[in-house]
Amino acid sequence: MSWTAAALLDRWIDAGRAGEAVGRDEARAIVADDRLALLGLIEAAGQVREAHFGRDVLIHQLHNVQSGACPEDCGYCGQSQHSEAPIQAYRLKSREEIVAEAQRAKDNGAYRYCMVLSGRGPSDEEIDHMAACIAEVKSRLGLRTCLSAGLLDEGKARRLADAGLDRLNHNLNTSERHYEQICTTHTFADRVNTLAAARAAGLDLCSGLIVGMGESFEDLIDVAYRLREFAVPSIPVNFLVPIPGNRVNDATLQGRPLTPQMVLRVLCLFRLVNPTAEIRIGAGREGHLRSMQALALHPANSLFVDGYLLTRGSATRDTIAMIIDAGFEVRLDGAWPAELEQFVAQLKAGGSGAFDIDHSGEVIRDDRRRQRNARLGEAPATLRVNGTPI
Ligand code: SF4
Repeated sequence: MSWTAAALLDRWIDAGRAGEAVGRDEARAIVADDRLALLGLIEAAGQVREAHFGRDVLIHQLHNVQSGACPEDCGYCGQSQHSEAPIQAYRLKSREEIVAEAQRAKDNGAYRYCMVLSGRGPSDEEIDHMAACIAEVKSRLGLRTCLSAGLLDEGKARRLADAGLDRLNHNLNTSERHYEQICTTHTFADRVNTLAAARAAGLDLCSGLIVGMGESFEDLIDVAYRLREFAVPSIPVNFLVPIPGNRVNDATLQGRPLTPQMVLRVLCLFRLVNPTAEIRIGAGREGHLRSMQALALHPANSLFVDGYLLTRGSATRDTIAMIIDAGFEVRLDGAWPAELEQFVAQLKAGGSGAFDIDHSGEVIRDDRRRQRNARLGEAPATLRVNGTPI
């Protein structure tokens, strides 16, 4: 790294620690200038992240409460009626189903219950239904609630806020300039108005984008600054997951395919333009970052996982292991389920103690193996090479 680049990064670190954004030309350099070495950039973004969030990684889970049959034509979305993607569509779930799912999420380590409705925006009846669900999830389970429900006016946002909704998720998705390329049935202004209505109703905002929908670097930078104008505290950065049957399914940025290095630069851009915001790695994490996922924890401080935290053998457990292995801390605001605590303690203990060999020869990572062996009255399995214990 040249002295100039080092000085530039030092300046960005100082600005970021003070909550200030890099300038627009600097933002452009972050994504477009290969002379800015990626590792130096990640280190700078990581220092800004640490100044505001330490080494914590927040884990989020999403729960669809209604899927498919949406009249809008968002080209990236399989739930649109205009998409030919084969998805499982279902009606809005009942209050009993939603509360039961929230209970299960709580039992599995969630502190926040994030509900997602497909559709342009909820009807009055749907607002009443969701308000009743939110009130019950809050009062009975004590979970924080987050809702993604499409376009809202201030009246509907207030009804949800009055029911106890904590946060509305509504992504800007892309720039105003590029918006028509991805959707023609509503506008960028409609999205901005929904954010304004939610803010006026006193709701926390969560708003981000989808990267890789054929936009330019300038579009990307526009979104980063629009979110800063709104002082959005939580920014999910999704990367387009190409789905056959969707109109937008190329995953390109500035005319080039997304690469893990570019994904990391994009995350650094959002960190350095929005230093104090929660930057969350959203959809496409595994597919677009591949083996570089752990590096993304330096600019980003939260991520989405599929499935429940305690599901054995799930990708979620692997994600938790990645966080610990990279020297970060898993953060759950709620009570930690004992099993998850044990799992994390076991990972932190490190070494081969976290592994065992199953009778099939498969490596398993499960602290319950001793209980299993004791229950079966068996000696722990031994790893053998050509029949010889090692
Ligand atoms: S409004 Fe939402 S559910 Fe409907 S097509 Fe657009 S992104 Fe998909």
